Amino acid sequence: MDLHEYQAKECFRTAGIPVPPGKIARTPEQAEAIAMEYGGNVVVKAQVHSGGRGKAGGVKLAVDPADARKHAQNILGLEIKGLTVEKVLVTPTEEIDTEAYLGVLIDRSSQAPIFIVSAAGGIDIEEVAETRPDEVRRFVVDPRHGLLPHQAFWLADFLYDDPELIKQTAKIIGQLYEAFTNTGASMAEINPLITTPEGKVKAIDAKMSIDENELFRRPDIASLRDTSAEPKAETLAREAGLSFVKLDGEVGCCVNGAGLAMATMDLVKYYGGEPANFLDIGGSSNPDKVASALQIIASDPNVKSILFNIFGGITRCDDVANGIIEALSRIEIRAPIVIRLTGTNEELALEILQNAGFSAYASMDDVVEEAVRLARA
Ligand code: GDP
Ligand code: MN
Repeated sequence: MDLHEYQAKECFRTAGIPVPPGKIARTPEQAEAIAMEYGGNVVVKAQVHSGGRGKAGGVKLAVDPADARKHAQNILGLEIKGLTVEKVLVTPTEEIDTEAYLGVLIDRSSQAPIFIVSAAGGIDIEEVAETRPDEVRRFVVDPRHGLLPHQAFWLADFLYDDPELIKQTAKIIGQLYEAFTNTGASMAEINPLITTPEGKVKAIDAKMSIDENELFRRPDIASLRDTSAEPKAETLAREAGLSFVKLDGEVGCCVNGAGLAMATMDLVKYYGGEPANFLDIGGSSNPDKVASALQIIASDPNVKSILFNIFGGITRCDDVANGIIEALSRIEIRAPIVIRLTGTNEELALEILQNAGFSAYASMDDVVEEAVRLARA
C-alpha cells in the first residue's frame, strides 16, 4: 500500500527526521490560505501515488499566496500517469544547496532491508544505478542487529565531505530505518534529501510503501489507505475478498486458485492475447463472490472478452454457474463470456449454464483460445 507524500512525511516526523511543515489543500482557496500562514513562499505539490511529479507539472514554487492559489488551480484535477490529483500539499519553500538520494527497501535477493544512497539526488535513482553505478552506495542490513551507527556513518560519508553534514545524515539514516521498520514498510525513500545554505540536512520529499501483510496488526497505518487514489476495481475486489490485480490487456480472467490463475494468464499470452487482470476468486466461492468478480472485470472498458476457468474442488461449479447467472441479471455485460468448469458438481453447473444459453468448454486450451479469438474479433 502506497502512502502519499504528506502521510510519509508524518511517519518521518514521528521518527525525528527533519521535515518542513506542510498542510493539505483540496481547493485553490485553501492553498492560498495555507500559503498566507507560511509567509507566501511555498511549494504546491500534487499528492498522487506516482513519482516524477515535478516533471509532470505537479510541483510548483509560489512566490506569494495568490501565486499559490493559481498553482493549486492548475494542479488540482491534473492527470499524472493516469491518476487525478485531488489534493495538494502546501509547504514552505526550502533553499537548496545540494540534493541527494536516500532510500531503504526490502531486497528480495538478499532477503533483508537494503539502504541505497547517492549524491546524484532529485532524479530517477534506477537510472543512476544503471548508468553510473559508481555514484551509488548500498548497504544490506542484518535484521537481527538492525542498522548500527557506524554503518549509518559509512553511508552518510558517501554523500558529503563536511563532517557536520555527515553527522546529521547518519542520524537521519538511523531514523529512516526506524520509520521503515515501525510501519512495516517495504520501501521508504527521501528524494531529494537536501542540504541548505545554513548547513542543515532535511527531507523535502517522502515516499513509502507499506507491506500489505503488515496492515492487519497496524490499523493506524491501514487507515491511511486512500481508496480514491487506487483503481476503483482494486478497491471493490479487496472489499469483496478477491485477489485482484488490474493489468492492461483485453481478456478478462476469472479463475479460482492463484496457480491456476497464473497458468491461465500464461495460456492467454501463449494464444496471442493479453490478460486484463489477475483474479483469484478463492477456494470457497459463493455466488455473490462470483457476481462481484464479474462486475469488477466487466467495469474495465479494455475488456473485450471474459474467460472463466474454474477447477471445482472445495469450490462448487454450480455455485460459480449460479453466480454468473446472478451477475448477468444484475448488470449488463457487453463482452462475450466463455466458461470452463470442471470438478465438483460439474454436471449440475453445465445444466445451469446450458439453460441460460451458454456452451461450456471442456479443455483449458479450447476455452482460452476462444477467449483470445473473441477479444481480437
Ligand atoms: P517528485 O518530482 O515527485 O519527486 O517531487 P519532489 O518533491 O522531489 O520535487 C521535485 C523537485 O522540485 C525537487 O527535486 C526540487 O528540485 C524541487 N523542489 C521541491 N520542493 C522544493 C523546495 O522546497 N524548494 C526548492 N527550491 N525546490 C523544491
Ligand atoms: Mn522526489
